[in-house]
Amino acid sequence: MNNAVKPRILLVEDDLTVQNLVSTALDLHGYVVSKVCNGQAAIMDAVSHGPSLIMLDLGLPDIDGIEVITKIRSWSAVPIIVISARSEDSDKIAALDAGADDYLTKPFSVDELLARVRANLRRSSMASSESTEASTFDNGPLHIDYAAGYATKDGRELSLTPTEYKLLVLLAKNVDKVLTHTFITREIWGTSWDSDLASLRVFMRTLRKKIEADPSHPKMIQTHMGVGYRMQRL
Ligand code: CA
Repeated sequence: MNNAVKPRILLVEDDLTVQNLVSTALDLHGYVVSKVCNGQAAIMDAVSHGPSLIMLDLGLPDIDGIEVITKIRSWSAVPIIVISARSEDSDKIAALDAGADDYLTKPFSVDELLARVRANLRRSSMASSESTEASTFDNGPLHIDYAAGYATKDGRELSLTPTEYKLLVLLAKNVDKVLTHTFITREIWGTSWDSDLASLRVFMRTLRKKIEADPSHPKMIQTHMGVGYRMQRL
């Protein structure tokens, strides 16, 4: 961390063991951490201190974590990483659809935690520096020219169907963010039926064949089982 101003992270967690573990790890890596144990305190802190990122446990003693996300999202675009103890996908999906950017499932490693924090801080700083929408996008061998409406891999133009291109652009514009199946199918087809999900899987397979170095071990687009997809920066 070379910046003079250290990013401030709001950690909302009522399990003190996890709270201490996470805050120690963040503190050691140069982040300023403020810790709260419930949803009301989280909203108050977010309003008064404007953190650079929020890490939020979903199971809080006062109000549900999803409600905290909805409230904060009504006025702030701060990155929110959900800490989920629940293994059910439905909680993560509800949190992402309510406006969370990412999630970690307990137990998670410190490396995983730091990687997610870095990726989300990078994404939000890039979003704020790009006041006018970027006209091109680069990620490893992939290049997209939004204005001209085409994509290349290693300098060679990709032959994409209109739906594959739409899907690629959607993932690129949300790079580092987990997008739920519902979000993607709504953006692409305007609906989210089971049949759209089946179509999405098919388009994802054909898109990966065109953009991934090894489509059976995709690196650029990650699958989040039962939740959705994320484009990673290579
Ligand atoms: Ca909890």
